Amino acid sequence: MIVQPSPNFDDRPPEGRIKYLILHYTGMTTEETALKRLCDAGSKVSAHYMIAEDGRVFSLVAEDRRAWHAGVAAWEGDTDINGLSIGVEMVNPGHDGPNYCGNYRPFPPAQMAALVELSRDILSRHRIAPWHVLGHSDVAPARKSDPGELFDWQGLASEGVGLWPEMSGDKPADAASFQQKLADYGYKIEITGTLNSQTHAVVRAFQRHFRPADMSGTFDRQCHSILDVLLDTRKDY
Ligand SMILES: [Zn+2]
Repeated sequence: MIVQPSPNFDDRPPEGRIKYLILHYTGMTTEETALKRLCDAGSKVSAHYMIAEDGRVFSLVAEDRRAWHAGVAAWEGDTDINGLSIGVEMVNPGHDGPNYCGNYRPFPPAQMAALVELSRDILSRHRIAPWHVLGHSDVAPARKSDPGELFDWQGLASEGVGLWPEMSGDKPADAASFQQKLADYGYKIEITGTLNSQTHAVVRAFQRHFRPADMSGTFDRQCHSILDVLLDTRKDY
């Protein structure tokens, strides 16, 4: 942890507590320019932490102070998101737009691993519900798009940080039940309970007909829902 104090903070509100973890990307060309901006008194922006792409963690504002990262934002009726949250900036050039250099790229494993470690530590010290681990774009959807679609929320949740819906089709235990449903609908498929090549072929055929936008061959939650609706609809004939 590298301590690099930012002057951009004030007091947390006397009422309320830290209940959100808000994740960002810096949206600046380089780590250096991002750090400079987050520590520049004139910028009026900051975060509690910034994580470099190689996994180095910078501590900018003490957790008991209000850092200025969320701006005009809201969640569950709360509007002083800065006052109720800890903010983490991930170094990444970000999307196109004002002040952005438009070189959005994946978050490297070392950076994500550092985020997992930091987040677990934060979650061990504050009562933050998994569904209160949010992106800036969640709390300010009209203004912000960070940390963006390349951010691995699913991977983060698998490490115990945040909430991700279980993809029922990904679980081998469910293979038998969706094979049975595909068979109920009419596909010729053996109920083996394993994700074998015949299942892959049938699932691709199913997707080619009912969900052409994604023909991965993986029977995911959406496929399950589509198949349930099809089976339900057929009952009415
Ligand atoms: Zn942000």
